[in-house]
Amino acid sequence: MATAAPLEVDVAVVGGGMVGASLAAALAGSGRSLLLVESVPLGAAAQPSFDERTTALGNASRRIFEGLGVWGDIAPEAAAIRAIHVSEAGRFGFARLEAAAQGIDAFGYVAANRRIGAALWRRLAAAPDLKLRVPARAQDIDIAAGRVRFTVLGADGAAATVSARLVVAADGAHSQIRAAAGIAADVEDYDQVAVVASVAADRPHQECAFERFTAEGPLAVLPLYDGNFAVIWACRPAHAREVLALDDVAYLARLQQQFGWRAGRFVRASRRGSYPLQLTRASTTVGARTVLIGNAAQALHPVAGQGFNLGLRDAAMLAELIVNAAGDVGAPDLLATFSAWRARDRAGVVRFTDGLVKLFADRRPGVPLLRNLGLLMFDLAPPAKSALARVSLGFGGPAPRLARGLPVRHV
Ligand SMILES: Cc1cc2nc3c(=O)[nH]c(=O)nc-3n(C[C@H](O)[C@H](O)[C@H](O)COP(=O)(O)OP(=O)(O)OC[C@H]3O[C@@H](n4cnc5c(N)ncnc54)[C@H](O)[C@@H]3O)c2cc1C
Repeated sequence: MATAAPLEVDVAVVGGGMVGASLAAALAGSGRSLLLVESVPLGAAAQPSFDERTTALGNASRRIFEGLGVWGDIAPEAAAIRAIHVSEAGRFGFARLEAAAQGIDAFGYVAANRRIGAALWRRLAAAPDLKLRVPARAQDIDIAAGRVRFTVLGADGAAATVSARLVVAADGAHSQIRAAAGIAADVEDYDQVAVVASVAADRPHQECAFERFTAEGPLAVLPLYDGNFAVIWACRPAHAREVLALDDVAYLARLQQQFGWRAGRFVRASRRGSYPLQLTRASTTVGARTVLIGNAAQALHPVAGQGFNLGLRDAAMLAELIVNAAGDVGAPDLLATFSAWRARDRAGVVRFTDGLVKLFADRRPGVPLLRNLGLLMFDLAPPAKSALARVSLGFGGPAPRLARGLPVRHV
């Protein structure tokens, strides 16, 4: 039981994964007192956010990272996506998008989560006004009208009480803060498991990302800076178990059979990892002195690589409201503005990713044919392609200043 006087802060961020660490980096130096609590240290094998995965970052995310001063650290190991190829297994239709034809340099960039984590945490370690508690868990959360109190329990068993004006839930899809705030979450199981790996092919990737829809789920093959590909293959759970048990040669053969030869012959594979896929949606993103961001607010299917990009826009917008607030950072009007400004982007991305998964899972007679005609028409229709190319700025509502390349603070 903690007995000393509580640690008083303006903002307590619970969860220092991809989104929480980004928020802390955006708030560092803002003049607000700030605490970040993370239960699993960077580099630990069990770190659930900065693990072996890679993340496709859209152009808005790149601009946000530039604004946070971390892009320079990530860019040397990020691969540009300059073409996207979308197809469906066993069907004729496909679409190919070229960044140059859209008047942009790249659709986005693929970077290793570990590299993103290293860049963010290097930035946080140098921040003067940030208190870090790692590894430590936030628990026993008590939300009152004026403050939020909780216990920070260190890995060494030491406990301390924190009192914050605002608590930010960046603690992932199974958020404890969300539960403590009494905010319900809707969970829909996709009955799919993503099997991820990095594979080498016998020819260069030419900066092309592939999304192939199979009967069981989407299969993404993304370029990596070292010339290899990141593979994110969504399978039915029983098939995923089978794929995970295959040796490298059998895995590569199974992958090749599903994906085809458009990226060349797959010749080497890393160890495989797996992620059960669900859509988790909080009923609201704000409660009394509480804000939910990233996976705590919405955890999506990885199709089209939208989850982190959306969560990073949550973080950028929240940072903007906090940095520019004159008074209490937990005031209801600030929280209501956050919720309203993020609503359209959030709803749009959820609809887009969920719709895409369900559209390609639909096996009713005639639907696959229509879908393929859709892909073909999409390939032939420049306005549709341009609309998709703009997707990375967000799906509506005000875009955060950082995403537009502006400083977080109004001048
Ligand atoms: C296979 C796969 C591929 C993906 N690819 C992409 C992609 O290409 N592009 C994209 O935009 N998105 C992608 N995503 C989505 C992306 O990974 C998530 O959106 C992102 O991880 C969300 O980050 P987060 O910080 O909100 O949550 P998390 O990553 O879940 O991090 C939560 C953090 O909180 C900590 N924590 C939890 N509870 C506590 C507590 N009580 N006290 C202290 N700390 C706590 C955890 O240790 C963790 O570090 C992918 C997802 C999957 C599954």
